[in-house]
Parts: sequence; structure tokens; C-alpha cells
Amino acid sequence: MLFTKAFFPLLDNDSEILYFDSAASTQTHSMVLESMDKYYRTYRANCNRGSHVLGDQTNEAVYNARQQVADFLSTQSENIIFTSGATESLNMVAKWNEHVDTVIITNVEHHANIIPWLEQNRTVSNGRLAILEVEEDGSIDLEKADKLFSKHPGCLLSMTSASNVLGNYLPWETLSHIAHSYGISVCMDFCQSASHHRIDLDHNDIEWACFSGHKMYGPTGVGVLWTKFDPGELKSLKYGGGAVYSVTYDKVIYADDYTKHEPGTPNIAGMIGLGTACELIAYDRENITSKEHQLETHLLQQGIHNIPGLKFVNVFRDNVLANPIFTFVPSIHSEDIAQHLTYTKTCIRTGNMCAHPIANKLSPRGLVRVSIAPYNTFEDCDALISQLTTLMNKLI
Ligand code: PMP
Repeated sequence: MLFTKAFFPLLDNDSEILYFDSAASTQTHSMVLESMDKYYRTYRANCNRGSHVLGDQTNEAVYNARQQVADFLSTQSENIIFTSGATESLNMVAKWNEHVDTVIITNVEHHANIIPWLEQNRTVSNGRLAILEVEEDGSIDLEKADKLFSKHPGCLLSMTSASNVLGNYLPWETLSHIAHSYGISVCMDFCQSASHHRIDLDHNDIEWACFSGHKMYGPTGVGVLWTKFDPGELKSLKYGGGAVYSVTYDKVIYADDYTKHEPGTPNIAGMIGLGTACELIAYDRENITSKEHQLETHLLQQGIHNIPGLKFVNVFRDNVLANPIFTFVPSIHSEDIAQHLTYTKTCIRTGNMCAHPIANKLSPRGLVRVSIAPYNTFEDCDALISQLTTLMNKLI
């Protein structure tokens, strides 16, 4: 098992930290840190520039990283564009789809998949934004979806594979089939599932996909945008500065591959670290899943859903949570809980989870979220429940 605490220096060095905010950001794996450290210490140079011994080694490392990401997604490396994270990826998808009449999103999206559309003057009232409802039990009524899609042929469906609030996994594979039958293209935000569920782009026909490195034991500030289309055919959206074939005072000719979307000096160490993270998750996926289920079962057995003042809102499917996220509606304001937590070493998430529409619908006082990762231990779980119980008994 490569995902125990011993592989996560921050957790290993500070045994008092109870880290239960992995859905926001996971801790970084030591092998990820080592791969980035090795780059900086032993072969640091720029990539896609003139060739010398260090430059060649850097080019090779970035090439390998792209391949590791492609293997992780079961796709070709030519279709991978490195970005700063899912937020940037989704904004790029939005720009390339500006012409689309209507964009359909679900009612459980993260702001990163709402704001880029609002920025294009798309609103529900002007009909340029449509909402696909996730029901209270976490399901999506496929007949309703079909009806909605039939009203917007040729548009774009942009949705998360799993809610960062409810943790439930959405039936995106089925939805993308239905969407395609109406000529609707599909953009998937895999932020909340990349570290939990296998993504197989070879066998799932979608047009766009993205995720962030920091939610999958990798570095911050780096992520992925995958597109089914030839990246060389897509308009360059960012300032120039490297990914070009020629520049005169009259004209710029951009490179005809993904490099045109990675101008300037990119986050080279980040790309290398993300490649390592992808490889580690793919290698240890079964162990990760099994440990997450064990922790989830343990938390439930120990009564995480019975803490005073915290009403459990998650949805179970076949007795397991799709994603190891426990969300609660507090009987007091979540900010009051947050304030008290600042004085402890317990890290859980409080507030609106960067998903105001669904968070506000569930609770007027903000939410409390506990999210687990395989590096958590059963002792961590027991300590968390004990601390939360003491805190809530004091506050309510
Ligand atoms: N989508 C989802 C579902 C998320 O959970 C997040 C991060 N909380 C994002 C998008 C945005 O990711 P980032 O901040 O890494 O760009």
C-alpha cells in the first residue's frame, strides 16, 4: 500500500494533525515530492527550448509526464493540455464554446463550472444556461434529462462526475450517451473522482475532460485539460511566448499541437509531479478503494452520523458512499464551528464548499464536510468523532 501516512511527510511528521479535508486538497505523496525535487536539484532547465543536456532531460521528463497522464486516462498524450488546474481548464472550454446557444450544467456544480458560463452572459432566465436537477436522493431522472436535452440540440453539457458537496457519483456515462443522441457535446469535470474512480476515455465518448493535480496527491497549480479534438486545431487562447513556429512583425504562426496552449515557461515541476501522482494512483487503485471503504465503514460504525447538532445529508448507494465524503447540516452556523476548529489541529471543511447553489439549498447556515483519504487511520477517525462530539456538545 503506497498511500499510508508514512508516504505523506506532512502527516507523518505531525502526528497530531487530523486531516479530513482531502476532497478540497489531498496531501502530497513523498514520491511526487521526490520527483519534483529531483527535477529542481539535478536536471532543471526549460522545456521545449534549445537543446542541451539539461534541456533534453527536462523535455524527456515532461514528455513522460504527459504520457503518464494519458495512460491514467486511457488516451493519447497528444490530446493532453497541461493547465494550472480545473478552473483554468473549464474557462478554456467555455471560451471554445462561446458560440453554443445553451449550456446545460447540473445543480451540484462547483463554482468553477458555473462562473465561466455566467461570464458569457448566460443565465437561466435568458435561456442560455439550463440546469439538470440532481434529485434529493442523489439520482438523476434520466427521462427528465432526455426531455431537457431534446430542447437544446447541438448545445453543450458541462458537468461534474461527482458532487464535492454530496459525494455522490453522477451517471455521466449514460447522460453523455443521451446527450450525444441530440448532438450535444459533453465536458466532464473529474476533479472529485480522479483519485477514486478509473477514468477510461477510450471507452467513453465525451469531448472535454479536466481535473486538478492537488486533489490527487499531486502538486498545486497544475491540472489537465483533455480534448477529443486535435488541440492544434483549437484557437490559441493565451498570450503567446514560445509555442509558435514563427513570428515576424506581421504574423505569428502557432505550433500545431498542444504546445500552442502551453505558452511561456509552464509549471514543469508540477507536470512532472502530476505524472508521478497519476502513475501511483493507477498502480494502487484497488488498495485505495478498499482502504476508503474500510474507513467509511469504521466512521459509520463509530457513529459519525450521530454527532449532536450535525445532521448527516449524504446519499448512499448499495450501502456505500460513492466518494468518501460525509456532509452535515449544522444546527448552528458553520462559521462558529470553523472558528473553534482554528484552535485545534483538526482539518475539516466548513462553509459553502465553493458550490453556493447546492450548499445554500441544503443549509442556510453553511455545511460541515469530512472527507477521507487512504492515509487516514482508524485512530484518526476515532479521534475526529471524539473531538467533533465534544465541540458540538459545547457549542449547541
Ligand atoms: N470542480 C470541482 C468538482 C471541485 O471540487 C473543484 C475544487 N474544489 C474544482 C472544480 C476547482 O478546482 P481547482 O481549484 O483546482 O481549479
